[in-house]
Amino acid sequence: MRKILIVGAGQSGLQLALGLQSQGYEVTLMSNRTADEIRSGRVMSTQCMFDTALQHERDLQINFWESQAPRIEGLGVSVAAPGSHAEPGGTARAIDWVGRLDGYAQSVDQRVKMAGWMETFAQRGGQLVIHGAAVSDLDFFAGRYDLTLVAAGKGELVSMFGRDAARSPYDAPQRSLAVAYVHGLGPRPEHPDFDAVRCNLVPGIGELFVMPALTTSGRADILFWEGVPGGPLDAFQDIRDPNEHLATTLELMETFLPWEYARATKVELTDAHGTLAGRYAPTVRKPVGRLPSGGLVLGVADVVVANDPITGQGSNSASKCAAAYLASIVEHGDRPFDGDWMQATFDRYWTTAQHVTKWTNAMLAPPPEHVLNIIGAGGQVQSIADRFANAFDDPSDFENFFYDPDKANAYLASVTG
Ligand SMILES: Cc1cc2nc3c(=O)[nH]c(=O)nc-3n(C[C@H](O)[C@H](O)[C@H](O)COP(=O)(O)OP(=O)(O)OC[C@H]3O[C@@H](n4cnc5c(N)ncnc54)[C@H](O)[C@@H]3O)c2cc1C
Repeated sequence: MRKILIVGAGQSGLQLALGLQSQGYEVTLMSNRTADEIRSGRVMSTQCMFDTALQHERDLQINFWESQAPRIEGLGVSVAAPGSHAEPGGTARAIDWVGRLDGYAQSVDQRVKMAGWMETFAQRGGQLVIHGAAVSDLDFFAGRYDLTLVAAGKGELVSMFGRDAARSPYDAPQRSLAVAYVHGLGPRPEHPDFDAVRCNLVPGIGELFVMPALTTSGRADILFWEGVPGGPLDAFQDIRDPNEHLATTLELMETFLPWEYARATKVELTDAHGTLAGRYAPTVRKPVGRLPSGGLVLGVADVVVANDPITGQGSNSASKCAAAYLASIVEHGDRPFDGDWMQATFDRYWTTAQHVTKWTNAMLAPPPEHVLNIIGAGGQVQSIADRFANAFDDPSDFENFFYDPDKANAYLASVTG
C-alpha cells in the first residue's frame, strides 16, 4: 500500500492520519510531543467546531467525545453601547441577540482530543515518531514516502511555503489573543436552557468570546479576549503567572463587559496550564514546498491558510482541509503525487477556505454601515440572527448578504418587509 508521511499531530494531521489509516494506507505520523506531553501541556485553542466540521469526524467514527462535550446550540452577539464602560456599573448593550444553530457545535479541548487520537492511531498500528522535524529531516525522509504532508500548524516549517501576498491583506497581527479555561462560571440569564458561544464586541477595542468546552477535568467555560493591538485589551504579553492572567481577564470584563463579568465572579482556572496568550499575522501561503534536494511537500490547514481566530474557524477549516485532502488522495489511486496534483488538491480545499479567509479578514476591520445594520437587525428579526449564526458553519453564505451593501439592504428589506 502507498506510504504517506504526515508531519504534525493537530486537528488536520491526526484526522488525515486516522482517515488514511482506515483506508489501508501505511501512515507515519511525526509529532514534536508525546500524547502525555500534549495532555498535560498548555491549552492551544478554543477549538469551537460547527456541524459540518464535526460531521467529518463522525464520518471517520473518531467523534469519541461527542456524548460528553457540551452541545452549543446557539451563537449570540452582544455589542457594548459606545462609552457605556466609562460609566461606573454601566451595563448598556446596544445589541444583544442569540441565533439558533441548525446543528450543534462543540469544543473538545485539543489536549484531550489530540492526545486521544494519537493513542488511537498508534493502537491501530500506525507508525508514530516523536521528533520535532526540521526541513533537513524532511529532505532525508521524503524520498522514502509516496507523499509528504506538512500539517505542523503555524510553527517554523511554514518557512518552506511562500507567502501568497495577493491572498494575505495583513502583514501584522490584527489582534492580541488571551485565553483562560475556567470552572465556576454562573448560568447565563439570557438563555439558561441552552448553551451558546457568545461574541461580545467592544467597538474599536476588541472582542470577548465565551463558550463551554470539554477539558481534561470535565466541563469548563472558556474566556477568550481578542484585543486590538496597542489598546486596553492588549494587556497579556508580559504576564507569566496564570492567576495574574485570569485576574487581568476578569478586570477587563468588569470594565468593558459587566454583564459577562457578573457571571464570572466565582471562576477559577481549570488547571495551571489553562491559559494562553499570543498573536500572529493571518497568512495564506503557496501550498507546495520544495525541499533542498528537489522533493515536493504539500502544506495542510494552518500551514497554508492561517486565519485570525476571531471567527473561530481554524479547527473547522483544518477538519474540512483534512476531509478534502483525504478524498483527493484516495481518488488519485496509484498515480504519482506530483506538483500538479498537490496544487489541484489545495485548490479543492481553497473553494471553501477562501470564504473563511474573506469573512475573517473582513471581521478584523471596523464594520461598514450595512454590516452594522445586519448585526443590529438580528435583535429584531430572529431569522437574521439564525442565518448569521449558521454562517459560522458555512461561511460561503456571507457572499449572499454580508459584503455587498446592495445585497445586504435587499436581504434586510426582504425579511423586514
Ligand atoms: C487562541 C485561539 C483560539 C482559537 N479558537 C478557535 C475556535 O474556536 N474554533 C476554531 O475552529 N479554531 C480556533 N482556533 C484555530 C485552531 O486552533 C487552529 O486553526 C487549528 O488547531 C489548526 O489545526 P492544524 O492541524 O493546522 O494545526 P495545529 O492544531 O497547530 O497542529 C499542529 C501540530 O504540529 C506540531 N508541530 C509543529 N511543528 C512541528 C514539527 N516541526 N515537527 C513535528 N510536529 C510539529 C504542533 O505541536 C501541533 O501539535 C483558535 C486558535 C487560537 C490560537
